[in-house]
This record gives sequence, structure tokens and C-alpha cells, in this order.
Amino acid sequence: MEPTRDSPNEPAPRGHACPICGAPVASETPSFPFCSARCRMADLGRWFGGRYTVSRDVTEEDLTEGP
Ligand SMILES: [Zn+2]
Repeated sequence: MEPTRDSPNEPAPRGHACPICGAPVASETPSFPFCSARCRMADLGRWFGGRYTVSRDVTEEDLTEGP
């Protein structure tokens, strides 16, 4: 059996996936392309806070980052 398609005019239901948690995000979501404001902030924190803490201390994670 073939999968049923509702309407060829509608955008692909797969749409977009949240870059943070991978949840499907509808293009009508206010926080698009993130599934929620929370993930939006998480992405910001990754950019902002991520580099901030790197120059602060060398953690075990840093040491295991190599090959
Ligand atoms: Zn998310």
C-alpha cells in the first residue's frame, strides 16, 4: 500500500527539526526554527556561554576532545 498524501499543495509535514533537541518544528511556531523559546535560549547560550567558559578552565572534557 502506498502512503496517503493529504494535499500536494501543503508543505512537507516533515518540515524542520529543532537544532537543539531535534523535535519537529512547524513553520508557524513563534520560536522557529526552534521548537520553543527554551531551545532558542539554549542555542544562544551555546554560542555565548560556550566560548566564555572555555578560556576559564581546562576540564576533562577538553582533554578527551582529541583523537
Ligand atoms: Zn527544541
